[in-house]
Amino acid sequence: MTVSLPIGSTIGIIGGGQLGRMLSVAASRLGFRCHVYEPGATPPAGQVADQVTTAAYDDEDALRAFGGSVDVITYEFENIPTAALDILQNLAPIHPGREALRVSQDRLTEKAFLQELGLTTAPYADITDAQSLDAALAEIGTPSILKTRRFGYDGKGQARIMTPDDATQALADMQGAPAILEGFVDFSHEVSVIAARSVDGAVSAFDPGENVHSDGILRTTTVPARLTPGQRTDAVLIAARIANALNYVGVMGVELFVTPKGLIVNEIAPRVHNSGHWTQNGCAVDQFEQHIRAIAGWPLGDGQRHADVVMENLIGADMDRVPELAKTPDCALHLYGKADTKPGRKMGHVNHIKRA
Ligand code: AMP
Repeated sequence: MTVSLPIGSTIGIIGGGQLGRMLSVAASRLGFRCHVYEPGATPPAGQVADQVTTAAYDDEDALRAFGGSVDVITYEFENIPTAALDILQNLAPIHPGREALRVSQDRLTEKAFLQELGLTTAPYADITDAQSLDAALAEIGTPSILKTRRFGYDGKGQARIMTPDDATQALADMQGAPAILEGFVDFSHEVSVIAARSVDGAVSAFDPGENVHSDGILRTTTVPARLTPGQRTDAVLIAARIANALNYVGVMGVELFVTPKGLIVNEIAPRVHNSGHWTQNGCAVDQFEQHIRAIAGWPLGDGQRHADVVMENLIGADMDRVPELAKTPDCALHLYGKADTKPGRKMGHVNHIKRA
């Protein structure tokens, strides 16, 4: 039987960036308190959470105090050190669980997991040195992409190999980190599914969104995505299959490439996802509330889309447009409270709403 977390309980959030901030807001709307754990000073989530611990991920005393002060633990990013999780898991339940982290922290493990589920990924190979890269290039061909197995985000830790002559430089770009080579997928566009799974195994997916990246950073997500009814069903079934296989609790993002031969899974994010921000103004219950409901053992909410939305990230100098956007009808601003505007830094987003 599912035991749901009583109102007034405290949710521990690892990571104090914008995702942690928006999770805290959603949690407080449901009457929960939040305690954020973040090594950096003045985290965006700290402005809205009940409590903040500023400490490193290897500070065992701080981790113990944090774990002992919360009723459930969640996180806004997947690269949490294993040793920190080992300490925390004895103090409070962690949702999503360790298996989701294990799989998504390492691109090689993730690809193998997806293929074992019968899902299609880009062709890939484990790269440990120049020899294994040569062998993989002979098999997979060019163009292809070399990616670090761990700690990649927003296109970082990636090098494109357009011809075999690029291989040496690409390997040097990995700076000795374990890597995988991925065949380049000739996709028409990219979509993602934001899916939620509750403690008792119910799965609910938001309408897939169509994503446009530049320089490896998400720029816009548009709903509805360009998908046939069959592709839309496939996308949702793929996300549900992944969530069920991981016995997942919470919200996850699944990024997919759309190709004439079908959908190819790019990667899984075991957390709320930038491409799900449109749900804040397109659904009665958004991805942040859905995540809090799931990890609190509550029933999932109504995630039906009630409007067409274009979510646009406000990156760096895009912040100069805020006064204009604030005057624009059907435009919902979400700003992250970051003091310093830097090129490439996500400062906020805006949801352009087209009512159905
Ligand atoms: P990732 O960090 O793996 O999500 O990659 C960032 C972006 O690079 C993706 O959203 C795609 O636009 C592009 N990309 C990554 N892997 C591939 C691939 N195997 N084939 C084509 N494009 C890719």
